[in-house]
Amino acid sequence: MIKARKIKLRLDVAQANMVREHQMEAAACWNEIVVLANNHYRDNDGKWISKSDLQAKTKNRFKLHSQSVQALTDKYCANRDTIAELRRKGDKKARYPYREKTYLTIPFKQMAIKIQKDGTIRLSLSNGNYLYTGIKPDREINTAELIWDGKGYVFSYTAEYEIADMATDGLVAGIDLGEIHPVAITAEDGEGLIVSGRTIRAAKQWRNKSLAKLSRRISKCKKGSRQWKKLIRAKAILRNRTDNQVRDMLHKSTRQAINWCLEKGISDIVVGDLKGVEKNTKKHRRLNKKARQKVSQMEYGTLKKYLKYKAEEAGIKSCFVNERGTSKNCPECGSENHPKGRIYSCKACGFKSHRDGKAGFLIARKKHKHLQLPEKFTFAHQQCAPKYRKRMRRESLPTPACVDGPDVTLSSPVKAEPLVGALSAA
Ligand SMILES: [Zn+2]
Repeated sequence: MIKARKIKLRLDVAQANMVREHQMEAAACWNEIVVLANNHYRDNDGKWISKSDLQAKTKNRFKLHSQSVQALTDKYCANRDTIAELRRKGDKKARYPYREKTYLTIPFKQMAIKIQKDGTIRLSLSNGNYLYTGIKPDREINTAELIWDGKGYVFSYTAEYEIADMATDGLVAGIDLGEIHPVAITAEDGEGLIVSGRTIRAAKQWRNKSLAKLSRRISKCKKGSRQWKKLIRAKAILRNRTDNQVRDMLHKSTRQAINWCLEKGISDIVVGDLKGVEKNTKKHRRLNKKARQKVSQMEYGTLKKYLKYKAEEAGIKSCFVNERGTSKNCPECGSENHPKGRIYSCKACGFKSHRDGKAGFLIARKKHKHLQLPEKFTFAHQQCAPKYRKRMRRESLPTPACVDGPDVTLSSPVKAEPLVGALSAA
């Protein structure tokens, strides 16, 4: 399986300047490709230039590694094909590349990536210009890119990762995706894991508030002024940072779920698909303003993607079913209830369980109709703790595993260590 990794680079000023120059050169190359292609299209009655012609016309003209130039033409052609496909399907808004770029991500192919004697990577930017990254890869790199992420340069690469053999005859489990609990997973025997994502929500709320604050300040500035530029930059950095935090936590919560599956011996997961909930929240105003913002910022697509590839890597079969009705229906008698809070209780038969965990079971049963309702559900709770929080929190005070209210008993309650003991020991 091909996976992408990103590593932050720590460059000195001279190195950063060199990379920036080559980024501008890459942009110049791209602009030239666009012009060449468009002119060819105009002069030849709507016929596109071929990839080999483009490569021949851009060869040895730019201060870049020859394979980087090739990679740019590849990128352009791939881009063009995608747009052509979209337009064929009726999307008339899709535009072929036209914008003039100032900077562009530099692509590298294998020839330009050299592993040195000490195991670190040397990137060949152009003839005689090398970037010593100091990064030691643990496997062969397919392709790489140098990306500016708003704050610094990032080395992004793809490599082949091995996948585990498909497990067979294990247990079946269902996964319910949600906003408060990004992943709630329930096995057919009634055991489950609920990953709390309140930290994700907190990060997003903080982002929304801070961005709004900055936007207000920006609106008071004169466009293009020094203060305006400063604030615009601050906004980009903030957005970048919170995006990284949220992505990190989404990775962690899906990782926790898959690790739990492996421990439990699960070979088959069914994921509740809620395609489209986050779309058109503004058009069809069925929710209030706050809820709309929450729903439209949910990362279901990302969660699904992460779960799918992590499951595949671990040798677990995964599939998606429509999650419709799984949060309302009672698994025991089938009647509909509208749960408030995190506990689901049925008015008709008295069935009681964690709302998202129960939904997970119903999702599994949608695919595997023969599943019997287990006698009892027991859920473990985990918080997906972000890395950046560690700095802020005293290590001696562990946080509760999940903050779901008094009704939910924690499967493994975390006891706070008495502070007095810690003090006297010191
Ligand atoms: Zn019931």
